[in-house]
Amino acid sequence: MKKILQLSGLDCAACAAELEEELSNIEGVSAASVSFVNQKLTVEYATDETLEKVVYAANHFEEVKVLEEKEKPQTEEKVSHKKDWLLIAISSLLFIGGILFERLTKGTLATVGSYVCYGAAYFTVGYSVLLATAKNLVKGKIFDENFLMTVASIGAVCIGEIGEGVMVMLLYQIGEVLQSLAVASSRRSVSDLMDLKSEYATVLIPQKACSCGCCHDHEDHEHEHDHEHEHEHDHEHTPKMQQKRVAPEEINVGDVLLVKAGEKIPVDGILLGESASLDTKSLTGESALRQVKQGEELLSGCVNAGGVFEMRATRKYTDSAVSRILDMVENASSGKAAPEKFITKFAKIYTPVVCLLALAVAIFAPLASGLIVENRLYFKDFERWLQSALTFLVVSCPCALIISVPLTYFSGIGACASRGVLVKGATYLDVLAKAKTVALDKTGTLTEGNFTVCGVYPEENVTERELLSLAVAIEKNSAHPIAKAFETYETEYIAENTTEKAGRGLIAQVQGKRVLVGNGELLKENGVTYTEKSSAYTLVYVAKDGAYLGAIEIGDKLREEAKTALTQLKELGLSRTVMLTGDNESRAQKIANEVGVCEVNAQLLPDEKLQKAEELKKSGGLIYVGDGINDAPVMAVADCAVSMGKLGSAAAIEASDLVLISDDLTALPRGVKIARKTRKIVMQNIVFSIVMKVSFMALGALGVLPLGLAVFADVGVMLIAVLNSFRVRIKDKKGDNA
Ligand code: ADP
Ligand code: MG
Repeated sequence: MKKILQLSGLDCAACAAELEEELSNIEGVSAASVSFVNQKLTVEYATDETLEKVVYAANHFEEVKVLEEKEKPQTEEKVSHKKDWLLIAISSLLFIGGILFERLTKGTLATVGSYVCYGAAYFTVGYSVLLATAKNLVKGKIFDENFLMTVASIGAVCIGEIGEGVMVMLLYQIGEVLQSLAVASSRRSVSDLMDLKSEYATVLIPQKACSCGCCHDHEDHEHEHDHEHEHEHDHEHTPKMQQKRVAPEEINVGDVLLVKAGEKIPVDGILLGESASLDTKSLTGESALRQVKQGEELLSGCVNAGGVFEMRATRKYTDSAVSRILDMVENASSGKAAPEKFITKFAKIYTPVVCLLALAVAIFAPLASGLIVENRLYFKDFERWLQSALTFLVVSCPCALIISVPLTYFSGIGACASRGVLVKGATYLDVLAKAKTVALDKTGTLTEGNFTVCGVYPEENVTERELLSLAVAIEKNSAHPIAKAFETYETEYIAENTTEKAGRGLIAQVQGKRVLVGNGELLKENGVTYTEKSSAYTLVYVAKDGAYLGAIEIGDKLREEAKTALTQLKELGLSRTVMLTGDNESRAQKIANEVGVCEVNAQLLPDEKLQKAEELKKSGGLIYVGDGINDAPVMAVADCAVSMGKLGSAAAIEASDLVLISDDLTALPRGVKIARKTRKIVMQNIVFSIVMKVSFMALGALGVLPLGLAVFADVGVMLIAVLNSFRVRIKDKKGDNA
């Protein structure tokens, strides 16, 4: 079982790693992942008991609390920062007071005054750090930032550098607040970018005054707001409607909603009015108007860019696009990218090693220099070396790395989301950035998947009507996009025992006769001779009791943007594009030529698609774009499976690693660009922080870098890395993130 829990009070990146480790070690937990940036815990566990243990352990980890579902950990942050700034301000004033006493005046009184000021400044800003260190020591946990800062500042005081000791704490705390502001801003920006959810929805409720007999019991319906038994209410004397504002969560399937100009569509539904024009900006990042006609689907999150219209809800809020998208973005953190895992491991061995090194600088360096220079066993220049060791400790703090790397990935996921691509974990950003091969499904992916019947070609002695009726009766039992073409037609037949041959078609009993509906392969396999037709569209052949009855031509347009998307992918160096389809060779080839796919693999059954995908995977990261119909196994093996958010089945969206929110294929190259930029910035941050750290540590150990400057440098590196991570979210002139 898998569960995602919302935490609060997780305020340091290193603690997140520690908590993760602790939870992973609980018996029955097969995987635990804690994301520091959005404070989410993802656990895979065996039994409910295990989960209880996990929650207990998390609740007893430092300040961490596991929040109940729906509880949101937002407001607390802003409040606590005010307090932090206040403490920093007070402490700074006291610190300045201390300096003035020390520098400007002389005498006992001045000395006492400076001590008092320094002491007060130190405790004002540092008590939380001291407290945390003490708590950790009791628990036997040392080696975290708090410990480093406590040792460094107390050490400074011991060697008489009181002012520097205070400065260590002060700068450290300023850095902490700035950093948590940066993290909070990232968190916020993702939800701001995804400004999808409507605050409220307007439900239309028939008024009791309705004169028609069937509306009596609407009063109590209104009360419970339960429309389960609602009957079609579209008879001539439409009752007067009353508007009622409700939260999107309260909308039931079947409710009639009023969407005014400029409002967002609260839940998925169908349009009741004549037509509507929608702005898809919030879903795709690009302002584009889309016209919707009566009876067509409305995707939640789009903004009504035209006049007021009525719609009928077809999904509850929790099943609607908006809620699915928000869920995915918020929970995107469970799959950690390799660099993230690397730094967590790195930090774990790093801190103890650094402490040992510092100890070596403090003890062995003076001993060695005593031995070498004066040939006797004593601590030569002990104070100087101790100071070097402390400086070394302060600069060694790995915060810049631990924070900036997950923050960069998080920003990358956010940037993708605002540009129409949902990425379900940082790992997939890495796959996207590095992939060489893109495989695509044809039907529903390169083509729109909106099939319509374009032509009916019966054999002699068969009527058009009979041919179509047979197909309609059988296709009723299929969820394939092709089956949708038949939905609008009537049939006098009833199909029994329908079996679907994936990638082939359907076989059923109609009036005791065995009927085949599908592609040429299906007929061949069943020993039916038929006349192959050529068509720009897909042909569905029909046979009854071994006799060929005729063909039905099913039209499916190419996606408008498919060609652009493939060109862009090639420009990005994803030169190998492969089509995997169950459709026939000639049609597949034709479409491939039109959109510019280089390799075609046609007439594949689902297991052959899988084989082919595994082969492609061997030559490097494989991105697979599919619709989840007849290709779910391929989605499972691809390094990064991409599905269509609107058209794709819920299962496909669930199984995929990346979702193109509004089915726009050009979102994929956009995602690749953002992923590459993210990775570039992650690498920059890793190299930058490590190089800076190592040089500062060397300078510190040699005694060249004063303690105060060391803290400054440390905070500086961290802030630069964090600011650098923000660059992921900045769009260039063209509006691209890359
Ligand atoms: P793709 O790989 O292009 O998405 P599929 O593997 O889903 O296509 O299907 C391959 C072919 O199988 C279709 O082009 C069609 O000829 C046939 N087929 C599959 N399902 C059906 C169906 N329900 N009715 C008719 N033909 C079908
Ligand atoms: Mg398909």
